[in-house]
Amino acid sequence: MFERHASATQTRTDAAALQASIIDLHAVTKAYETAAGPFWALKGIDLQIKKGEFVAVVGKSGSGKSTLINMFTGIDHPTGGDIVVAQTPIRQLDEEQMAAWRGRNLGIIFQFFQLLPALTIVENVMIPMDLCQVYENGERYQRALHLLELVDMVDDAHKFPSSVSGGQQQRAAIARALANDPPILVADEPTGNLDSRAAEAVYELFGSLVDEGKTILMVTHDDELAGRAPRAVTLADGLIVDETVRHRRLKENGDYSE
Ligand code: ADP
Ligand code: MG
Repeated sequence: MFERHASATQTRTDAAALQASIIDLHAVTKAYETAAGPFWALKGIDLQIKKGEFVAVVGKSGSGKSTLINMFTGIDHPTGGDIVVAQTPIRQLDEEQMAAWRGRNLGIIFQFFQLLPALTIVENVMIPMDLCQVYENGERYQRALHLLELVDMVDDAHKFPSSVSGGQQQRAAIARALANDPPILVADEPTGNLDSRAAEAVYELFGSLVDEGKTILMVTHDDELAGRAPRAVTLADGLIVDETVRHRRLKENGDYSE
């Protein structure tokens, strides 16, 4: 009897958690100080993203995409508004808390991969684990190999980044982003430096990670990829001007529908 009650409660809690936004931006603004006075790169962004969503952020160069990403990764601070990511109001974190929080909650993927050139691929994947201490010292190497297997890069584990292709470096960077098993992956133009075949491989990898429950926010210039993303948010001059939800909409009961 008690067990039945407990499990019913558990189910409700899970459903509530599923409904709650994992990323919640309210009236977020950002002004850069320039010689000519403040430049408003974000003019009031409201954006809610639920756990398990795959969202593309599109818009012309200069529309504020990277600024937006930098706001909720805590790389930069908003001028106004509220940001809650993974239940944490990030405004309240100091730099040290922010670094620890980011390491556990976010995997960040860059256009130019940002692998450390003097370290092998598997060593690069181990860095976030060494920094965050989520995984024991003794299990980090095996976990890094496992993640490289996941992105089809395990055969290149002991090579240096410069000796593999851009597409392979980006897949290694995705393995690195997964190192501490963060719930959210954020990618700023992840395919911007890749040919279309390598871009497709990265996109498909993102799709399979979403299927496993990750939440992904991907800035992209690639209209073809953005056109296939389940949800696309278009920025122009620091505002969201369009939102498209194509399929795999998260229904009220938490199930996906086509
Ligand atoms: P996107 O990623 O969409 O190309 P950004 O977010 O990088 O756009 O930039 C948005 C706007 O803010 C652009 O007009 C850009 O010139 C300006 N901007 C970005 N960073 C700074 C900065 N540090 N100082 C002043 N202006 C900036
Ligand atoms: Mg940008």
